[in-house]
Amino acid sequence: MLTVNDLCKRYSSGVWKKSYTQAVAHVSFHIEKGKVLGIVGESGSGKSTIAQCITRLVEPSSGEIIFRGEEITRMKAGKLNKYRRNMQMIFQDPDSALDPKMTISESLEEALKLNQCHYSAEERKRKTDELIALVGLNAEHKNRYPHQLSGGQNQRVVLARALSFDPELLIADEPTASLDVSVQAQILTLLKTIQREKELTMLLISHDMEIVRRVCDEVIVMYRGEAVEKGRVESVFGNPQHVYTR
Ligand code: ADP
Ligand code: ADP
Repeated sequence: MLTVNDLCKRYSSGVWKKSYTQAVAHVSFHIEKGKVLGIVGESGSGKSTIAQCITRLVEPSSGEIIFRGEEITRMKAGKLNKYRRNMQMIFQDPDSALDPKMTISESLEEALKLNQCHYSAEERKRKTDELIALVGLNAEHKNRYPHQLSGGQNQRVVLARALSFDPELLIADEPTASLDVSVQAQILTLLKTIQREKELTMLLISHDMEIVRRVCDEVIVMYRGEAVEKGRVESVFGNPQHVYTR
């Protein structure tokens, strides 16, 4: 499904004296269809940069990214847009991902209008209701605005919007980091349930090993830009040598 080969990203910094931050150094991995790969590591270890290179929000300095057999690091804009639809990202803060002036159903209908142009207005309404139910919200939430819902409920809406694209790959970058601890578990359970049901391929970024242990099949441990450990969750977290993350 997705192969990353020898990915490197340097950010240039310093105005007078040219210097570089090596954010990602020689990272390689592969995710199979329907599996969940976790990227864990302390803050600044390069996790988000990897996700941003995959979605081409950031240009890799070198390396290959192959999604469904296509090398995307050199893809042209038109094709890139189509490819991006197939990989949706959700982030830490749901509020910044939702339009405060749109109700939940308006927001989902708008997403469907953009992504599923062949739907009639009626199909969009039906699909919106399906998405709302899928993420565990109900009719009562439909006509509310983001500020009238909790952080956890808004993150459910963000997830519903991402799913409206029918993506093959879902990238979740610290999806529960802004939520109360009690709500975190609910959102993670929901993510895992939907991932299994839809056989979604998922990349889950987190600084929290416990989250990765619960949700992922395989894991990469990042430390200062390098993948220092890689493997099945049971074997990496069963390894007493893993001292890199906190
Ligand atoms: P899918 O595309 O359904 O996820 P697979 O995960 O089975 O299919 O593998 C897709 C291709 O990537 C196969 O040709 C496989 O040999 C290759 N592949 C598997 N693991 C890796 C890896 N770690 N690095 C590079 N290529 C890999
Ligand atoms: P993580 O997601 O693990 O917290 P990041 O990928 O955000 O790590 O950052 C990795 C490194 O790259 C850090 O040293 C960070 O300061 C640096 N970095 C990230 N984004 C930029 C940027 N746009 N410009 C310059 N340096 C950056």
